[in-house]
Amino acid sequence: MRWILLFLVMLLGVGEGARAQSPRPKNLILMIADGCGPASITMARDYARAVLGREELTLDAIQTGAVRTASASSRVTDSAAGATAYACGVKTYNGAIAVDTAGRPLATLLEAAKARGMATGLVATSRISHATPAAFAAHVPQRAMESEIAAQMLAQRVDVLLGGGWSYFLPTAEGGRRQDGRNLLREAEAMGYQVVRTAADFRRGVRRPVLGLFGPSHLPYEIDRDPEEVPSLAEMTRAALELLADDPDGFFLMVEGSRIDHAGHANDAAAHVREVLAYDEAVAVALDFARRDGQTLVVSVADHETGGLSLGRNVNGRGVYDWHPEVLARVQASYERLIPALRRSERPDSLLQAWLGLDSLRADEQALVAQATAEPDTWAEVVTELIGRRAVVGWTSNGHTAVDVNLYAFGPGAERLVGSFENDELGRLLAELMGFDLPALTETLRREEAVGESH
Ligand SMILES: [Mg+2]
Ligand SMILES: [Zn+2]
Repeated sequence: MRWILLFLVMLLGVGEGARAQSPRPKNLILMIADGCGPASITMARDYARAVLGREELTLDAIQTGAVRTASASSRVTDSAAGATAYACGVKTYNGAIAVDTAGRPLATLLEAAKARGMATGLVATSRISHATPAAFAAHVPQRAMESEIAAQMLAQRVDVLLGGGWSYFLPTAEGGRRQDGRNLLREAEAMGYQVVRTAADFRRGVRRPVLGLFGPSHLPYEIDRDPEEVPSLAEMTRAALELLADDPDGFFLMVEGSRIDHAGHANDAAAHVREVLAYDEAVAVALDFARRDGQTLVVSVADHETGGLSLGRNVNGRGVYDWHPEVLARVQASYERLIPALRRSERPDSLLQAWLGLDSLRADEQALVAQATAEPDTWAEVVTELIGRRAVVGWTSNGHTAVDVNLYAFGPGAERLVGSFENDELGRLLAELMGFDLPALTETLRREEAVGESH
């Protein structure tokens, strides 16, 4: 009897397998948690459990695998090469924005979506012209060419652009950073874009196409964000989905939790964990949409890990078998606000105590504070060490690391994303699932570019 049951289960299993190939997704939402390694996810989950009374992250329910992040030029990628691998399915050199190792343009998922008549969107908490969103809608040899990236993004007529960074859309004469005198905000309006620059205008209602930039550079960290002034990543994601969803040809949307990476670079644990949680809320918005819609593939991935974060570390020469999320919950602000204030302060010790929510400083901590007071350039390191000892978290780098990152997927095609993938392989797989022919589109791009150059 048991064997018959087993046989039946196997038969059913095979049947499942045969039917498992789901139809082509109509929409693709690609979520990128910049600089979010596996430890960052654990950190956010432990924090959610200890502080927010939640058992799991939204992401936890849809984890399917891991991604290896090396670029063509280094085992440790930067965000430009990392995003290009996903956008174009090709590994390139660090710094490259949707160009190959020879500097030739590579077609992106967004361009392929556009070519099929789908609606497109980019949402980020960094400048919208920053490396990750750039690699979906621009082709330049170096990520620092943000004036050029902003111009190309607009020329692509991306339907929804939401994030920070109006400085690269305005000429220097009008308070921006463009050297070419162009005012891209005005140009966007002439192209039919609704241009919004405040949360109030944004909440009054937006239409397609929209260019929403809520600050001159990156948006504030979640821990510092004033909800009256700046929309959250989840809010921008919801608005983008409402605008894109009515396209009969479907849509491609990339949403980036950009500043998880910045807090990792700064080794700012309290800012970092809140960035990851804000990203997870945006994932919840995307998943809600996908569950209702049934034709949307949601993929979440990181481009690389940042900071070499560890949960548990040596304190006074001994490995400690615990870490304390509550310490991070008491911290009032990011280093962006805290460190300059400490440098200016007459009484940095009491300021520090107030901002970190500490009743008192221990002797070893007072020694650290004395050191930073004497050498104000060391404040960031000292605060990191102080929080690190209290929370028992460690950082090994102010840059990126080579570790694999988590992969998450939900919706039609998600079953193909189970396993361990190279970053470029994932990009090609997404194109295949959507039925995009990126190599053919790349050929077209290069022909057009050659024609453009000969004129
Ligand atoms: Mg980024
Ligand atoms: Zn970074």
